[in-house]
Amino acid sequence: MQIICLDLEGVLIPEIWIEFAKETGIEELMATTRDIPDYDVLMKQRLSFLRKNDLRIDDIQSVISGMEPLDGAKEFLNELRSQYQVMILSDTFYEFAYPFMQQLAWPTLLCHRLMIDSQGGVENYVLRQKDPKRNAVKAMKQLNFRVFAAGDSYNDTTMLEEADAGFLFCAPDNVVEEFPEFPLTTNYDELLDCFKKAELDE
Ligand SMILES: [Mg+2]
Repeated sequence: MQIICLDLEGVLIPEIWIEFAKETGIEELMATTRDIPDYDVLMKQRLSFLRKNDLRIDDIQSVISGMEPLDGAKEFLNELRSQYQVMILSDTFYEFAYPFMQQLAWPTLLCHRLMIDSQGGVENYVLRQKDPKRNAVKAMKQLNFRVFAAGDSYNDTTMLEEADAGFLFCAPDNVVEEFPEFPLTTNYDELLDCFKKAELDE
């Protein structure tokens, strides 16, 4: 039995923080896991810019409500789910992801949550666990699944390493160069082919 673990942002939907940075014009919010490998450093930086600019959860959610999955993502995910069990492993937050899950027909999503204060300010964030993507893959392997995974960023590499087969999807050059062990795919058809080939490599 195979299960596919997919990253969310950069694979099925655009980078939420980049869209939010564009909308608000706050240059500093442009940084993502593609630029800063340490997620805690990145999130602390984001929360401090939110506070400094008096931006609240509503401001972020209103930007998200105007966003859509990447072109072809919904069809790809439907196709994939007709053939495999699929789980989305993301470092986003349930408070952000909800509208996208609706557009993607409610796939299973494991991510984190935000702590919102009484004024709607983003007080802090709660990681579901440490190294969440790797640990989710490990858990699936313990349940006797063979795990195939795909992601685009630094925060995916432990998941790709732990999986029985791991692929980069439309990753930036710095990630591709640092992790040559993970084959690079650049569109959904190619990624689906890679999963199918991995299935034959038993
Ligand atoms: Mg990503």
